[in-house]
Amino acid sequence: MANQFDAVVIGGGPGGYNAAIRLGQLGLKAACIDARGTFGGTCLNVGCIPSKALLHASERFEEARKDFAKLGIKAEVSLDLPAMMAEKSKVVGELTKGVEFLLKKNKCEAIVGTGRIVSPGKVEVKARDGALRTLQTRNIVIATGSDVMPLAGAEVDEERIVSSTGALSLKQVPKRLIVVGGGYIGLELGSVWRRLGSEVTVVEFLDRIAPGLDGEIGKQFQRILARQGLAFRLSTKVVGVEKGSDALKVQIQPAQGGAAETLETDVLLVSIGRRPYTDGLGLEEVGVARDARGRIVTDGHFQTNVEGLWAIGDCREGPMLAHKAEDEAVACAENIAGRKGHVNYDAIPSVVYTAPEVASVGKTEEELKAAGIVYKTGKFPFTANARAKTIAATEGFAKVLADAKTDRVLGVHILGAEAGNLIQEAAFAIEMGASSEDIARTSHAHPTLTEAVRQAAMGVEGWTMQM
Ligand SMILES: Cc1cc2nc3c(=O)[nH]c(=O)nc-3n(C[C@H](O)[C@H](O)[C@H](O)COP(=O)(O)OP(=O)(O)OC[C@H]3O[C@@H](n4cnc5c(N)ncnc54)[C@H](O)[C@@H]3O)c2cc1C
Repeated sequence: MANQFDAVVIGGGPGGYNAAIRLGQLGLKAACIDARGTFGGTCLNVGCIPSKALLHASERFEEARKDFAKLGIKAEVSLDLPAMMAEKSKVVGELTKGVEFLLKKNKCEAIVGTGRIVSPGKVEVKARDGALRTLQTRNIVIATGSDVMPLAGAEVDEERIVSSTGALSLKQVPKRLIVVGGGYIGLELGSVWRRLGSEVTVVEFLDRIAPGLDGEIGKQFQRILARQGLAFRLSTKVVGVEKGSDALKVQIQPAQGGAAETLETDVLLVSIGRRPYTDGLGLEEVGVARDARGRIVTDGHFQTNVEGLWAIGDCREGPMLAHKAEDEAVACAENIAGRKGHVNYDAIPSVVYTAPEVASVGKTEEELKAAGIVYKTGKFPFTANARAKTIAATEGFAKVLADAKTDRVLGVHILGAEAGNLIQEAAFAIEMGASSEDIARTSHAHPTLTEAVRQAAMGVEGWTMQM
C-alpha cells in the first residue's frame, strides 16, 4: 500500500507542489517527486524568489547611494556582495523548507528522485543513490516545468557565459555585462547588476524590449531603463562568442543580416527564453502528444491524450509564470477529484520587477485593435498622485482599457512603483466582469498609489478629477 497512490505528481515547482497540496486537501493520497533535492522548482530555487531578493537588495543599495541624501539621511554605503548573496540563499532555504512542510501538512509524500512514466498508472523513481522505487497510481500529473533555452555558439559555463541561474550567483560584480534577450528575466537581472556597478548592454533580436507589453507602456519603460544606464542594441542578434583570456568577444549582427560587429564583455547572460522540460520522462514510450515547440498538449481540463495523464505549468502552453502554474495546479487537482476546476487566462497578471515595475492584465491596445474591439482608454500619471510624490516615485502611469459599449474592463497596464501589487485590483475586476465605473466608484484609501488606478478608471468616461 505504501507505493499505491491516487495521484503522483512529477515535479515539485509551483505547479507540482500546489497540485499535490490541493489533492491532499481534497482527500486524495498524493506523492510529489522532484529530482532537485529541494522543493519549490525553478521559482523558489533559481527563479522568482532569488531574483526578487537580489532586486530588492540592489534597489536598496542604489537608493542608499543616490537618494538618501535628498531625504536628509547621511550614510556611507558600500557593497558586501557575499552578504547579499547569503541573505538571498537564506530566503530561498526558508521557502523551500516551507514547501516541504506544506506537503507534509497535507499528507502528501515528498519524494526526492527522478520520475519516469513506465506506463499510465506506473511511475518509476530513481533516488540519488540509484535505488529504484515503483509507484502505482490512478493519475499522473506532469509538472516538470521548463529549462533555459540554449543560444547556438554561446555554451553556458555558469561563470563567464551564464544562464539566469549563474547570473543569480556571480561571485563578483562584472565590469561589463551583456544580456542576450530583452525579456523580463534579462531586464530584471540586467537591472540588478547595473545597480551593483556593471556596465550593462542588452542585445535584443526584436525592435523593442519585453514584446508582450502594451506598446505605449513598453516604449516609456525602455526610455526609463535607458535613463538608468542600461544600453540597448535592438534589432540585433548575437552570432558567436569567443572566449579570450580576459574578455569575451561577442559577435553581433543586425537581426535581418548585415555587417557583423564585435563587443567585448566580462560576462554574457543568455536569457533568450525558456523551453518546456520533459527530458527522460518517457513521454514517447507512453505516446503523450506534444506540439511543435515541445509543449505537452492537453485539453481544457489539463488531460493529455493518454487517459490518467495530466499536465500543468511551464511544460504546457501559456505564459511561463509561477502563478499560472499554480492556477492550473488547483484546477487540475479539482478535475482529478471529480470537481470542475478551470482557469481564466484573461485574468492572469504579469509583472516585471524592475524599478519602476511594470504590470499588466488582460488585453493590450494592440491586441484589442487587432481583434477589432472598440474600446475606451483612461490614463493617469504617477506625477499627479500624492503618495507617489511622498515616496519620490513619480515615474510612469496607469492605463485602463474598457469596452466602448459595455464599459467592461478589458485590460489594465501599469508602469510605476508597486505596479505588481496595484495590478491585483485590476485582475480581480476582470475576473468579476467589472466595469471601469466599478473601479472608479470604489473607495480607494488616500494617500495610496491605488488612487492612480482609480483616476485612470475615471478617465474612461472622461471624469478624471485630479489632473
Ligand atoms: C530567473 C527567473 C525569474 C523568474 N521570475 C518569475 C516571477 O517573478 N514571477 C513568475 O510568476 N514567474 C517567474 N519565473 C518563472 C517561474 O519560475 C516558472 O513559471 C515556474 O517555476 C513554473 O512552475 P512549474 O511548476 O511549471 O515548473 P518548475 O518550477 O520549473 O518546476 C519543475 C520541477 O520539476 C523537476 N523535474 C523535472 N523533471 C523531473 C523528473 N523527471 N523527475 C522529478 N523531477 C523533475 C525540476 O527539477 C523542477 O524542480 C522566473 C523564472 C526565472 C528563471
